[in-house]
Amino acid sequence: MPPSRPSSYRPASHRLRPANQQHAGKRQAYSFVSVDDVSTIYNTVASELWRRTWWREVPPDSIGSRLGGSCYRECDLILAQCHGRGAPFNEIGGAGRVQAINYLQGSKTMTLKAELAMLLREWLEAHPDQEPFTPLTYIIYPRKWNGPRGGNSGSLSLAARRGRLSDEREAFLWESQLRDQQGIGNVWVAKTNHGSKGSGVRVVEGGNQTCNFIDAALQGSSQAVAVQKYVEDPLLILGYKFDVRVWVLVDMELGVFVYRQGVLRLSSSPYDPDNLDDTFSHLTNHCIQMQSPGYENLVQGNEMFFDQFRRYLAQAHPDVDLDLDILNQVHKHIVRTVSAAWPLLRRKNRHGGFQLYGYDLMLDSDFRVWLLEVNGAPAAADRLRPALARDIVSLCIDSRFPPPAAAGKGISLGGGGRGGDNGFAGASAHDFQLLVSSSSLDIHDY
Ligand code: ADP
Repeated sequence: MPPSRPSSYRPASHRLRPANQQHAGKRQAYSFVSVDDVSTIYNTVASELWRRTWWREVPPDSIGSRLGGSCYRECDLILAQCHGRGAPFNEIGGAGRVQAINYLQGSKTMTLKAELAMLLREWLEAHPDQEPFTPLTYIIYPRKWNGPRGGNSGSLSLAARRGRLSDEREAFLWESQLRDQQGIGNVWVAKTNHGSKGSGVRVVEGGNQTCNFIDAALQGSSQAVAVQKYVEDPLLILGYKFDVRVWVLVDMELGVFVYRQGVLRLSSSPYDPDNLDDTFSHLTNHCIQMQSPGYENLVQGNEMFFDQFRRYLAQAHPDVDLDLDILNQVHKHIVRTVSAAWPLLRRKNRHGGFQLYGYDLMLDSDFRVWLLEVNGAPAAADRLRPALARDIVSLCIDSRFPPPAAAGKGISLGGGGRGGDNGFAGASAHDFQLLVSSSSLDIHDY
């Protein structure tokens, strides 16, 4: 996704409601604080809140200094940093207090690559009748590693601290040797646990070369590396590789929603399995592709939206239906991932938490969908961002904080009622589709 910022962007701490958005004299029932200055989506969410006369934004530094940093108790909504860093979880949602925060504690079990691999491996062990939906993955540590191997570390993620992320180099080398002997695909993609936007990602053939890369390029790093089986037979569009980005909203009170619009991110060089070093052919991250001389050769912004993809499929693969044959698989993967993480999410998030995730997926040439990773701080295509932000507010915020005139009038999710005389619908029309409710997740294992 483009790392671009909206033209209205200003760091959150300096962002004040523009003059034409000030609602002098109106009662502002709710306040929000935004401590995130990089998320384009949450900057757009803030702009959407400015349009609501009953919201007021409180600059974080002012409340921080006024109350010695323990200010968050007084805000109704906290737009925390996209990685949850410094979010005041212990201060919010006290007895009888309705508050919301845009981050779910425990999310890293899905959003860190090695953790996700472990989570889904455990899910598969518990569901032996099911097929894997994420490529085979091994956790490997560089030989010169700057931290404990799956031991005790305050800075490591939960799974690592629990000792779940032990080094699997031997098992990986064995698997790779077997593949060589059997003459089956032996290309892998190495990804650092915390990496994003294609940084620290490398496609390598063979076990020894992969380990050599990890030891040489990542030595001194304090991150585990997820070595994932490379999808060697991707579905191509006119000879180009692509991945699929789908946005997922998890609201602990409501459930799991998928955004109906998604986007395909295409590469800029034709797919070339004989040249694994060509990142423009193999890594479809937008920020990598933007550097390519072939950028936008095929489509604008190297992006194809679901409506365009539907039209493409009708011509190129008339037997394949986007909803029935592809998105059904995507939705299953989403529900299973969240379901696997649900016990942890449930335990850690009692009050008002919600979070937007970016699911990155790929299709192979048999139209089988593979989950590559879950991004905890997703960007959104420029074309979709305003509507996406509006829908997040509609679904997760308006329902909890109805306009004062509508408060108590029973505005409910999906009710479509207009918000009093303010002209806003309380959690009404939006483009999120409910996949599974939180009450179902509480009882069922998916
Ligand atoms: P990042 O967080 O850096 O975006 P990803 O896991 O999304 O990491 O990988 C970056 C890119 O690498 C993806 O967009 C995709 O094009 C490619 N890629 C990642 N994993 C695989 C895989 N298992 N098979 C084929 N391509 C992959």
